[in-house]
Amino acid sequence: MTALILVDLQNDFMPGGALAVAEGFQILPIINELIHQKFDLIIASKDWHPQKHESFAVTHDKNPGEKILLEGLEQILWPTHCVKESHGSEFALGWESSKVDKIIFKGTNKKIDSYSVFFDNAHRKSTGLDELLKKQQIKTLYIAGLATDYCVKYSVLDALELGYEVYVVKGGCRAVNLSPDDERKALEEMKFAGAHLI
Ligand SMILES: [Zn+2]
Repeated sequence: MTALILVDLQNDFMPGGALAVAEGFQILPIINELIHQKFDLIIASKDWHPQKHESFAVTHDKNPGEKILLEGLEQILWPTHCVKESHGSEFALGWESSKVDKIIFKGTNKKIDSYSVFFDNAHRKSTGLDELLKKQQIKTLYIAGLATDYCVKYSVLDALELGYEVYVVKGGCRAVNLSPDDERKALEEMKFAGAHLI
């Protein structure tokens, strides 16, 4: 059984959004093509933060891009983004979000960030996705979305560790690229960990 996992296709990660991925819109035709392939399950995640989330620079009176220690982990501070129930946290227009079977919410705990669709960054709490996939006997995952160098990468690494066969649809992903090399490094890291890049 095979599932498609679409990561954070939300307004705030698209051009014009609070944490925009410059080429975010370019993946949407590929996402729509993927949605029409035969998958047993289509999952989409939503970054879904409470106000004043600890990953927001403004919460700490600092600038985006600065780093702090959060729950013992290095945390990059981001612009305020994907506040739950805000326009920025809604699915972007331009892809067929009505075909999604199940939405997974992440980053809901104010005190810790969650790049991965499976766990928070300290791996303390599951989003419930692994349990759902195992219950439906899903063994293979196709993953695409935003952004390659954060939420896609950490989702892929967790999925591999959890024993799934993972295909990363490169054309369906784009990176934040805080450093210009981040996308290439993220793809290499996923491949090294056992993901198939297609
Ligand atoms: Zn976030």
